[in-house]
Amino acid sequence: MRKYIVAGNWKMNGTLADTQKLASEVVNMHKDEVNNGVEVVMIPPYIGITEVQRLAKGSEVKVGSQNCHKEDSGAYTGEISAPILASYGVDYVIIGHSERREYQSEDNTLLAQKVGQAHRHHLTPIYCVGETLEEREENRHFEVIEQQISEGLFHLSTDNIQRTVIAYEPVWAIGTGKTASKDEAQEIHSLIRDLIARRYSQHIADEISILYGGSVKPNNAAELFSMPDIDGGLIGGASLNSRDFIDICKAVK
Ligand code: PEP
Repeated sequence: MRKYIVAGNWKMNGTLADTQKLASEVVNMHKDEVNNGVEVVMIPPYIGITEVQRLAKGSEVKVGSQNCHKEDSGAYTGEISAPILASYGVDYVIIGHSERREYQSEDNTLLAQKVGQAHRHHLTPIYCVGETLEEREENRHFEVIEQQISEGLFHLSTDNIQRTVIAYEPVWAIGTGKTASKDEAQEIHSLIRDLIARRYSQHIADEISILYGGSVKPNNAAELFSMPDIDGGLIGGASLNSRDFIDICKAVK
């Protein structure tokens, strides 16, 4: 069944004290206020994962990682692998965030390997796609999304594609305060679902969760989440404020 998910990507934010405050506030508010069935995920920097897990223990809130390496282990200083994350009980892993595509030069071929790694170790990948402003202005956004989806995901088996979450995050909307309109977002979400239907089946496409990300805030979340192919959000800036993050979670109907 298609799952509604709101995941907070904390990026490179959170001292130990910040992490403890934010995670405990989210867990407590979630318990008291969120009863719409949405799956809520906190995604701190690697070092914060065990602390967030400790604070989320006994709650329904899940924990994710912002990345994983394509190999199981080895001489890759500063990296983290899927089996390490799995051994710590991590649930989700973001793969292909636009900041990693840009600053770490991660391309679709590498990301396809990382998605495969996540599945091999029973982590749920949140695979991010999205066009830049230039690509949209040149009217190439459909082609860019199609390439990111086909090259990053179409090697997956029927079983694994069903266990994959996709996040559409237009690069021009991330951290900029500019949000795609509900119709602009819906158009791409529906394209992604259609691509999955053509490669796999309509049934599988209907079951997949496709999240929207890019300056989602409490005041625009309900409108975006009301669209038929938008199944929740990947939230950056607003996930660092527990009140805003929980209000976004509550905006899923
Ligand atoms: C993100 O980084 O995934 C994101 C969507 O950021 P923001 O919500 O700050 O635009």
